[in-house]
Amino acid sequence: MSESVYPLIDLRAAALPLPQPSEASLLGTALHDVHARPLHDLRISVTDRCNFRCSYCMPKEVFNNDYAYLPHKDLLSFEEITRVAKNFVALGVRKIRLTGGEPLLRKNIEILVEQLASLSTPDGTPLDLTLTTNGSLLERKAQSLKDAGLQRVTVSLDGLDDAVFRRMNDVDFPVRDVLRGIERAQHVGLGPVKVNMVVKKGTNEQEIVPMARHFRGSGVRLRFIEYMDVGATNGWRMDEVLPSAEVLELLQQEWLMVALEHSASGETAQRWGYANAAGLHDKEAGEIGLISSVTQAFCGDCNRARLSTEGRLYLCLFAGQGYDLRQLLREQSLNDEQLRAQVDAIWRQRSDRYSQMRSQAPAGSAPARRVEMSYIGG
Ligand code: SAM
Ligand code: SF4
Ligand code: SF4
Repeated sequence: MSESVYPLIDLRAAALPLPQPSEASLLGTALHDVHARPLHDLRISVTDRCNFRCSYCMPKEVFNNDYAYLPHKDLLSFEEITRVAKNFVALGVRKIRLTGGEPLLRKNIEILVEQLASLSTPDGTPLDLTLTTNGSLLERKAQSLKDAGLQRVTVSLDGLDDAVFRRMNDVDFPVRDVLRGIERAQHVGLGPVKVNMVVKKGTNEQEIVPMARHFRGSGVRLRFIEYMDVGATNGWRMDEVLPSAEVLELLQQEWLMVALEHSASGETAQRWGYANAAGLHDKEAGEIGLISSVTQAFCGDCNRARLSTEGRLYLCLFAGQGYDLRQLLREQSLNDEQLRAQVDAIWRQRSDRYSQMRSQAPAGSAPARRVEMSYIGG
């Protein structure tokens, strides 16, 4: 095992004790956690498997042939996922993102998309239904996903230079095929397509300007993500994080940029638009996003819950343990009302704000125990 990768501490078996429904839950008061954050966004991981081995997420020294992926019987079925999602929507969720692992590897994912697309909010508004993918299967699947009711996709792409990209995905996958997937997604109307680029200092920062140039004016919204200390295997080091402020400086050396308003509460990206000669946002040229998860924590607005592939509910990307909802469905046979009361009680006692606390941790402290991103989904 290389020095820059930590061995895996498998936290998947651990589950948190379930809280009792509180008086506020029983009275039906608006659902907020202890920091007054609503429950708005549900990310659902549909598989813990992936055909890439991005070193910052699933380093191949750990995710090798010996790694024990979840057996199929442990995964939530599409019906179970849809039932959980329906109850989350009743509790206030308005946006659902499918993720993984690589979500397009889950067999018949279109069927799940179709089931989720049929859900609507209590006032009849359709959900914002989206999916994050590495793009490897997108060219093939974009049309069927669109037909099933998916609204948008976010595609991860860490560089345009083929050698750099092949090195980062660590399975020798070519850039060309991901670019084709992005074009296809735009063509079938899965837009506006967002592209996520994780920036790792010393690895792909030279790709920032070429990526911006490539997607400028294309309708794609490129977002630069600071390399995060998610999971415990990627050997994360602060000196490999390129702060978003430096990404912006690089872009400003090429183009005039203007700050744009946040588009929604809980939005993780700071938006910047390309400006015209008058210094106003040139909408044709488009915009970029900066996701500064490390240097500017956004826990204050964090309204996201995560459902793992096997039905554990995690309240933070950096959580060590989740709540076992599958057990409530399968063994305790909770009805919908009971399930909602339980989730309501869980959310009301949520206090997570890992990124904000990170800066207070002693320098050089050992990596915290937390689950892998490929398991709970990004
Ligand atoms: N496989 C899909 C993909 O790559 O888009 C979906 C799952 S992936 C875990 C979701 C997102 O998390 C991707 O955009 C990926 O780049 C991002 N990600 C994974 N590990 C990360 C890390 N250590 N720091 C920042 N972003 C990370
Ligand atoms: Fe796979 Fe996505 Fe993780 Fe890369 S970031 S290893 S594509 S799950
Ligand atoms: Fe949300 Fe946790 Fe990330 Fe903070 S660290 S923004 S609470 S997921």
